Amino acid sequence: MSNSEIHEPAGRIENLRQKFLKLYGRHPEGIWRAPGRVNLIGEHTDYNLGYVLPFAIDKNALVAIRRKAQFEHSANELNLASTYGADEDPKVTSVPLDGLTPQSVSGWAAYPTAVVWALNQLDDVEISGFELLVDSDVPVGSGLSSSHALEVSTIVALKDLYDLGLSHTQMAQLTQRAENEFVGAPTGIMDQSASLMSRAENALFLDCRSMESRAVPLPLAQNDAVVLVIDTRVEHSHVDGGYAARRRSCEQAAEILRVPSLRDVGTVDELQVIEDELVRRRAKHIVTENQRVLDTVQALEAGDLQAVGKLLYQSHVSMRDDYEISCEELDTAVEASLAAGAIGARMTGGGFGGSSIALIHREQIEAVSQAVLEAFAQAGFKAPNIFTVVADQGAGRA
Ligand code: ADP
Ligand code: MG
Repeated sequence: MSNSEIHEPAGRIENLRQKFLKLYGRHPEGIWRAPGRVNLIGEHTDYNLGYVLPFAIDKNALVAIRRKAQFEHSANELNLASTYGADEDPKVTSVPLDGLTPQSVSGWAAYPTAVVWALNQLDDVEISGFELLVDSDVPVGSGLSSSHALEVSTIVALKDLYDLGLSHTQMAQLTQRAENEFVGAPTGIMDQSASLMSRAENALFLDCRSMESRAVPLPLAQNDAVVLVIDTRVEHSHVDGGYAARRRSCEQAAEILRVPSLRDVGTVDELQVIEDELVRRRAKHIVTENQRVLDTVQALEAGDLQAVGKLLYQSHVSMRDDYEISCEELDTAVEASLAAGAIGARMTGGGFGGSSIALIHREQIEAVSQAVLEAFAQAGFKAPNIFTVVADQGAGRA
């Protein structure tokens, strides 16, 4: 199979259908799609019940599913397989659903299983066994939310197959519960919301407390601008301590300030009563970042990309110095992008590795990419993956 076939959606869908047939001996009932995301701005604000501004990207997980019949052998068992890293026939992992308990499944199978578990916690839902094959072109562990693409493709598929009357917000909350309780990662609600609710050519402005959202048009085409992703190939992991530690600092700060969450803090001045310098600095990132999201929405609506660019870099500095979730590779990517003429740049996603984004004019794609590659080579870092992304439609039937 040539590379051009892999990126051709119709080809990818047919390919997956054939692979499913070969693996399970029967056709899938359908194929569903869920995109990864880039977060334009608003980092670590989601679990502080603040604002975020992500968009879904043109890289997605495709999932093919067939439900088992009641009389079938192992009717109450999940059979899960992924084309990821599989040259020949993908390996099938089997997970019995009877007596399923949180954090009892390890590896990638935990994600689709977690979604089934979360749905089965609902009173009137009973998901039983099915066969699943996933094929995703969202880079894994790059901060573009390949894990949520997996969860979201699974939940939109099951919603359709079982005719569950679930809203986008409910699906976002269910996948968050799946991830927090079943997988055991204390993540917020941004990533799955972006994958579910985004609209093509728009960013998703989401209030993570009320769950109200609004599409904000991205004035890229009319400005001949694009978003470049620089995947540093430094793998991050949210199950590790850094993310949880940041979350704890925010909870501590909110407790000291006697507010339900840092969302309720209006200005940095209010943080002076926090004696612990580190906790104060963590809280400062959240308070200033929430304001930057609001300012970015305004700048986008005014069509002022220069202002957007400034806010992106301010966000990066805040994550680097106050929240301390960047790393040398991300800083290098951001600085090299700006030095080569980017309008703005920042790390994106949870941090501690993963990807940065650069807002650039279309004619700068080559120059910025080259500058970043050279800066990485000079620093002795692994060569990054660099590609442009388009703001795409949220999840649904493929
Ligand atoms: P990110 O979501 O930023 O890509 P995470 O560490 O949160 O990074 O999620 C990566 C994990 O998601 C992988 O280790 C794997 O368990 C799972 N995953 C993502 N995509 C796939 C895939 N196509 N096949 C199997 N597992 C996947
Ligand atoms: Mg993830």
